[in-house]
Amino acid sequence: MRSLKNDPQDIAVIDKIRELEKLARLLEPPESRREIIRSRVVDYTEEFLNHIDTLPAFTTSADQGIGILDSPISDDTLSIDSALQLVHENLDVPGLNPASRGHLGYIPGGGIYYSALGDYIADVTNRYAGVFYAGTGAIRMEQMLIDWMASIAGFPKGTGGNLTSGGSIANLVGIVAARDATELKPKDIEQSAIYLTTQAHHSVDKAIRIAGLKHCVIRSVDMDVHHRMDPDALEQLILHDKEMGLHPWLVICTAGTTDTGAIDPLTAIADICQHHHLWMHTDGAYGGFFVLCEEGKTLLEGMSRSDSLVMDPHKGLFLPYGSGAVLVREQSRLFNAFWYQANYLQDAAAASGELSPADLSPELTKHFRGLRMWLPLKLLGIAPFRAALEEKLWLARYFYEEIRKVPRFEAGTYPDLSVVTFRYVPARGDADRFNERLLQEVVRDGRVFLSSTRLNGQFVIRVAVLCFRSHLDTIDLALSILKEKALLLESSL
Ligand SMILES: *Cc1c(COP(=O)(O)O)cnc(C)c1O
Repeated sequence: MRSLKNDPQDIAVIDKIRELEKLARLLEPPESRREIIRSRVVDYTEEFLNHIDTLPAFTTSADQGIGILDSPISDDTLSIDSALQLVHENLDVPGLNPASRGHLGYIPGGGIYYSALGDYIADVTNRYAGVFYAGTGAIRMEQMLIDWMASIAGFPKGTGGNLTSGGSIANLVGIVAARDATELKPKDIEQSAIYLTTQAHHSVDKAIRIAGLKHCVIRSVDMDVHHRMDPDALEQLILHDKEMGLHPWLVICTAGTTDTGAIDPLTAIADICQHHHLWMHTDGAYGGFFVLCEEGKTLLEGMSRSDSLVMDPHKGLFLPYGSGAVLVREQSRLFNAFWYQANYLQDAAAASGELSPADLSPELTKHFRGLRMWLPLKLLGIAPFRAALEEKLWLARYFYEEIRKVPRFEAGTYPDLSVVTFRYVPARGDADRFNERLLQEVVRDGRVFLSSTRLNGQFVIRVAVLCFRSHLDTIDLALSILKEKALLLESSL
């Protein structure tokens, strides 16, 4: 290599590099600046947490955070205080506040503080959690978490899994593993049949499409009054399809549907899948972690017999958004669907227990999701999670009993898990319209947030108890708001 030193041209280059370096070094704040911005951020989150019990669950705002667009990305800089002000006004005020104890809509997520600190460490150290060679400890940690989930779900040794960004990707991973395990060829697709109910989550339909399976024969299995799959109807369909010369290969059942929290009869479905050699994929994104408590374990019997299972730690383990998981009974099924280097390394890698997440999922580089799950579990132990889950079951049952005592309110079937559906039957007028308005009034009030769905052609309101901050007082608050708003609306008719 030529010496740079005495060439005036090169001196200019060195100056240029130095100049660039000066700006580039702004990417690494010195300790003094770290201290300032960190303390401002911590002040901001402390302010949020210290007032979390009185912050609204929903804030109706005309501008919907549009002010964030007034400060475009450019070479201009903001002070940390101005940046946090923008975040507060535009992100943390308008719309749904999922951190609120009053979030009883959809399926609430978590957001436990311990996870934020796990993420903080993961982000600062930026350990690589895609490939074993690079992040041995990180990947061992994630594998340990998967093994733990497999053990609580009753899956055998040798179960494979992956920590995903959420339940949708986890469903996709499970269904792709099923597709490849079944060795479906493109020419077979139109004769191959998938079985699910209309209560399956829409991410399942999406996964079927993405996985190139939308031209399969997709059978909608009848349900009982609890909106659970009817196993007799399932078996009849399978027999019928076989007779027709079709190839039944996949049953997608749900352990806790999003609409009503219904658990499909997993044991009966497992028997049918076993007998007819179908892959059983169970979507437990919402309900799966209830297996941690005794009550839930009984309710979820049969889940352990699934070939693949989805569980969302950002739902049932109260983690912040960004944590789903999929378990596959035979790790090799996952590997065969997602390996990316050399198939011939499979046995050696599996034998040494050193498969990488990149071998078992669509991702290569990914967020180190393990630490946000590991830290809270290590600092708290499992017991508080178990208690919180059982508490949510009882809170839903409590709500179910109490709402039925209020005149003119009627509830759906007894909750399988922690979702209750109900509606108000007004003295006169259109009930659907009344309940829509009732829900609007509750959301406008903002102390609690509920959502709705349609069941058997009717508009129904739902209470979904899963936020770790929701306790008995939250449910009593929801009940009193519902009574108050219903009375007001009824008197204004
Ligand atoms: C939430 C949910 C999903 C989707 O999970 P995401 O984490 O939102 O992607 C899938 N299935 C069920 C039953 C769910 O409740």
